[in-house]
Amino acid sequence: MLAVYKLVLASGNKGKLEELRTMLAPQNINVISLAHYPNMPETVEDGSTFKDNAIKKAKEAAKYTGLPVLADDSGLEVDHLGGKPGVHSARFAGIPKDDTANNNKLLEQMRNVPWEQRTARFRCVIAICTPEGELHTSDGFCEGYILEQLKGEGGFGYDPLFYVPKYDKTFAELDMNEKNKISHRGKALKGAVEILAKMVGKEE
Ligand code: IMP
Repeated sequence: MLAVYKLVLASGNKGKLEELRTMLAPQNINVISLAHYPNMPETVEDGSTFKDNAIKKAKEAAKYTGLPVLADDSGLEVDHLGGKPGVHSARFAGIPKDDTANNNKLLEQMRNVPWEQRTARFRCVIAICTPEGELHTSDGFCEGYILEQLKGEGGFGYDPLFYVPKYDKTFAELDMNEKNKISHRGKALKGAVEILAKMVGKEE
C-alpha cells in the first residue's frame, strides 16, 4: 500500500487549500492548513523579496508543526512605480488590508501615465521546507498592464486593474481555470507540485 504523506499549507486561505489539494491528489499527499494550528504565532513578513518571505513562512511553520510545509508569497510589481507595491501589495494603502483602497491608491499613482509605461507583473514564490531543513523554491510570473479603471467582477486584490493582452481581459474577467493556467501562482504551483512529486518518489 502506498504511504500517504502530510503537507502543511502555511496559509488559512480556503481557496488556496482547495487548489493545492486538487493539484496534489494524484501524489497521495494529504494537505492540511494552518487552521489546524491556531496557536502558531503569525510569521512577520518583513523580507525584502517574495522569496525571503516565502522561505521565512515555510521554515517557521515546519519548525512549529514538525511537518513539511508549503508557503507562498506574491504581489504586484508596477514598472512605473519602480516595482511597487511589491512585497507590500496586501497593505499598499495601509493597515488593515483593503483591496478597494489599494486599487484606488494604484489608480491615483498611475493617473495620466501613458499606456506603454503601464507595464506590470504579478509574481509568486513558493517555498517548500521540511522539518529536517530541506528547502526548495519555485517561482512564477505573469506580465500585463495596469488599466485606468476597474474592469471585471471576479477574482480579488488587484485583479480588476490587471489587463492581460493575450486574453484581452483583466484577471477579474477570466474564470478561475483560465486564470490558474497563466497566473503567477498557477505557474509557481506547477513547479512546486513537480518538486513534491520528486520528494515523495524518493521516499517510496
Ligand atoms: P498573498 O501573498 O497571496 O498574501 O498576496 C499578497 C497580496 O498581493 C494580495 O493581498 C493582493 O493584494 C496581491 N495579489 C497577489 N496575487 C494576486 C492575484 O492573483 N490577484 C490580485 N492580487 C493579488
